[in-house]
Amino acid sequence: MSWDYSGNEQWTWDQIPLGAMTLEGGTATGHKTGDWRVQRPIWHTDKCKQCLICWMHCPDSSIKVSEQKMCGVDYEHCKGCGVCVQVCPFNALSMMSEKDARELDEKEAN
Ligand code: SF4
Ligand code: SF4
Repeated sequence: MSWDYSGNEQWTWDQIPLGAMTLEGGTATGHKTGDWRVQRPIWHTDKCKQCLICWMHCPDSSIKVSEQKMCGVDYEHCKGCGVCVQVCPFNALSMMSEKDARELDEKEAN
């Protein structure tokens, strides 16, 4: 679908075409929404006390939990907001630039 935006500087609010609308819940499960992240949280398992405070605060439900324990970060949906890093009382999470993290991933894969 394409829209004609010509002359939009003069549009009034009621001339703006309707954009994408989310009509139901749970749609993020079908879409990877973390690909525009610029920083990612890194989990330091040696410092983690499994308090799950990060899980309670993550606005994107991106802290993965299995059998009542944190088991990682869902990078397909994490948006890199850093809330989990801020709330972790044990410094078991830290932020890393996405660029550096991807370079590290590539090095480890080779
Ligand atoms: S808040 Fe920190 S210590 Fe608690 S589960 Fe999350 S990473 Fe682990
Ligand atoms: S950085 Fe934000 S979105 Fe990603 S896991 Fe932490 S709290 Fe959730």
